[in-house]
Amino acid sequence: MNSFSKKILHWYDQHGRTDLPWQQNITPYRVWLSEVMLQQTQVKTVIPYFQQFTKQFETVEALANASEDQVLKLWSGLGYYSRARYLHQAAKQVCDDFSGRFPDNMEQMQSLKGVGRSTAAAILSIAFEQPEAILDGNVKRVLTRYEAIEGWTGKASVLKRLWAVAEEYLPTSRNRDYTQAIMDLGATVCTRSKPSCAVCPLQSGCTGFKQGNMTDYPTPKKKKALPEKQIIMLILKNPQHEVLMQKRPLIGIWGGLWCFPEFKTEQEVTKWLNKQNSKAKRIEKRASFRHTFSHFHLSIQPLIMQLESPLKEGVMEDDSSLWYNLNTEFEGGLASPVQKLLQEIKS
Ligand code: SF4
Repeated sequence: MNSFSKKILHWYDQHGRTDLPWQQNITPYRVWLSEVMLQQTQVKTVIPYFQQFTKQFETVEALANASEDQVLKLWSGLGYYSRARYLHQAAKQVCDDFSGRFPDNMEQMQSLKGVGRSTAAAILSIAFEQPEAILDGNVKRVLTRYEAIEGWTGKASVLKRLWAVAEEYLPTSRNRDYTQAIMDLGATVCTRSKPSCAVCPLQSGCTGFKQGNMTDYPTPKKKKALPEKQIIMLILKNPQHEVLMQKRPLIGIWGGLWCFPEFKTEQEVTKWLNKQNSKAKRIEKRASFRHTFSHFHLSIQPLIMQLESPLKEGVMEDDSSLWYNLNTEFEGGLASPVQKLLQEIKS
């Protein structure tokens, strides 16, 4: 075994995390679920979601048989909602195409929705003890520092080099432990801003440490100022203490989640109400707040209105609109700003 993996495994035996919920009762289903949830999300955020999911959907069949609204509801607040939709689709794939058993090879594992090369490798190494290299954010940080690899890690040439290094350092045994170990080392020792090099098992061979500039790695992506978009969220109440909710299209932000109707301007709101032959009284315009996505800021202006005459039937004809009774629990996924606004108006 090469000395890199030997050192990491030795460190893991003494300091690695062994009490995470997905490290207990290891099955391909639980490993896959945790790995999808951990994409771009920290362990402490994922834990309660993982526990809820495994409680409600004990098996991949149970998840496949759930409705999309049930899945999105449980996922609410975890972000990157396409992951939840892909998770649901992948569960159906496992049941329909693989008779309910997760595939045990790279090609088929990557055919599952939402499972890329690194996630597939993590599942194969942890659940099936296969020698597959992973390259998540934590591992990229460790390897770029250790090897002093320059350049943004999203660039194809840098990625190619990183995959080669990751594969070169794979151990010849203990593949599950090694995957856990290198992820743990990145998350707890080789941290983003203050790496604990003094206690790091890789210190003696780490080029970044020797150069004294380890935090220069990985090279950050050149930052562009994020554009800002503005919307009005219309919180339209009816006399029955209900608010109008609309389901968002699957493509785009908050795909498949439920939101308040959205407009660019107040004039658009009035125009829309006129089109429904309806009238509503303005109750309150709340202070706007910002929600940031990876590619833009969204400034949200909540506008509360009370309906004075019913909306035209047509608005509620399909399944993408409903009146939600504020005294009940909402049965569907909610975008986090909508969840926050609902809590505020309920109280
Ligand atoms: S020595 Fe420091 S920079 Fe190098 S891998 Fe360890 S923690 Fe990271």
